[in-house]
Amino acid sequence: MQLTLLGTGTAVPSLIRSSSAYLVQVEGKNILIDCGAGTIRRLLEAGISYQDIDLILLTHRHPDHIADIAALLFACRYHAAPRRRDLAMVGAAGTREFFRQLNEAFGGHLISPHFDVTVHEVGEESWSWQGLRLAAAPVRHTAHSLAYRMEFDGSSIAFSGDSDDCPELVRLADKADVFVCECALPDGQKAPGHLTPTLVGRVAAEADVDTLVLSHFYPEVEQAPIESQVRKNYAGKLILGTDLLRIG
Ligand SMILES: [Zn+2]
Ligand SMILES: [Zn+2]
Repeated sequence: MQLTLLGTGTAVPSLIRSSSAYLVQVEGKNILIDCGAGTIRRLLEAGISYQDIDLILLTHRHPDHIADIAALLFACRYHAAPRRRDLAMVGAAGTREFFRQLNEAFGGHLISPHFDVTVHEVGEESWSWQGLRLAAAPVRHTAHSLAYRMEFDGSSIAFSGDSDDCPELVRLADKADVFVCECALPDGQKAPGHLTPTLVGRVAAEADVDTLVLSHFYPEVEQAPIESQVRKNYAGKLILGTDLLRIG
C-alpha cells in the first residue's frame, strides 16, 4: 500500500502546497482521498493519469477538498480518449444530491455515456471494496465530515480530513501504521473544527499510531515550531508532509 501526498495545502492558494488530496495505490487500484483544486495536475506530476482513479473518498464538501471533481469528470469525457472504467465515489450524507446539483450546474456535462459514476453515502461504518477494508467515522468539522481508514494485508492508513479534537477521530486512527492528520493552525490561534500541533500530538498519542503525517497547513502554522509542539504529547515517528512525498 503506497501513499502519495498530492496536496498538503488548504483553501489558501500556494505554489508549493496544493489543496487537499492524497493518493493510495494498492493491488493495482488507485484511490483518491479528497480532490481539492490542483489535484489533477499533482496526479500528472506523480505519474498517474486522472483516467486511472478507481475510487474517490470525500471527507467533506468544502471547496479545498472537492473543487477538482468537476474538472476531473469533465476531462474524462475528452473525445479523443474517453474514460471507460467506472468510477466510485464515497462521501457523507448529502453527497449524492451534491453531485446531482453539480452536474446540473454544468448543464449535465459531467456525466459521460462511456462510464458510470456511482456515489455511496456512508456514516460510521466499515465495508469492503475490492479486497480492501474501508472504514469511515463522522468527525467534528462541518455537519457532514468524515475521517477514513483503509486496511490491506495487515497495514492501515487513516485520514483525519478536516477535524477538531474528538473521540471519533482517536478511535478511527487507533494503532494505524500511518495517520495523515490535519494540522491547520498554530497553538494559540485555534479555530473551531480544526487542530493545532499540540492537539494533533495528543490525538496521535491517544490513538497510539506508528507514523504521524501532518498536512493541511495554513500559512500561519508554517511560522510555528510545529515539531516541538507536536512532541509535547507524541513520541512516535513524525513526518511534516510536503506535496508529492511518497510514503510506504
Ligand atoms: Zn480544508
Ligand atoms: Zn473544511
